[in-house]
Amino acid sequence: MTELLYLTDSYLKEFEATVVEDLGESVVLDRTAFYPGGGGQPNDTGYLEVDGERLEVLSVEKAENKVLHHVKHEESLLNVKVKGVINWPRRYTFMKYHTAIHLIDAVLRNYYGKAFLTGGQIYEDKARIDVDFPELKREMLPELETRVNQEISTGREVIVKFLSRDEAMNIPEIARTKPGQELLMKLDVVRVVEIVGLDAQMDGGTHVRNTREIGAIRMVKFENKGAHNKRIEFVLAGGL
Ligand SMILES: [Zn+2]
Repeated sequence: MTELLYLTDSYLKEFEATVVEDLGESVVLDRTAFYPGGGGQPNDTGYLEVDGERLEVLSVEKAENKVLHHVKHEESLLNVKVKGVINWPRRYTFMKYHTAIHLIDAVLRNYYGKAFLTGGQIYEDKARIDVDFPELKREMLPELETRVNQEISTGREVIVKFLSRDEAMNIPEIARTKPGQELLMKLDVVRVVEIVGLDAQMDGGTHVRNTREIGAIRMVKFENKGAHNKRIEFVLAGGL
């Protein structure tokens, strides 16, 4: 099983590792900082350096307990020591979007009552969230955007905690989706991402350390996806 370095240090851009499995199209490392994708956050890209040569990491995916790094290579890399380097601008953008999604979710709950995030997807230049919030209207977006940007500029710390399942279950709404709740029941140790003073939830993604790093967001699109489901698309804006 690969040690997932990004779970404890989202800011790790380079790392040393050993190839423990070579599957031809992809390799498995004993440890990795490459995020394999999940929870609406795309996988990382970058390269593996082997004897001074760069092998581009085209994509990364999780397959059961393995993280597969797709790299084109001719000779077997089994047992070879590599240096992994992440495409940092891309990843850092994802971290900002990911943390912003938490903030929007938290603001919806705290100011507007129970609004449940039902999905989200991050891209390199935008992100969208789906919320179960029947009363949400396009006209409410400017106010919502202002409140989210206020939370960003407050400079709230974002911390990662590893809790026992019992401890995690004492936190209200720690797992908000059905798959999340099912996963929680299987875990002995639960990774919790907390925006101090605002929000805490079970989470396997990468986030910024302080909300101020997001800069600001701008909500660019609103869609009615049904009586309950509303979709908001937003971009990072300002100071970037
Ligand atoms: Zn998250």
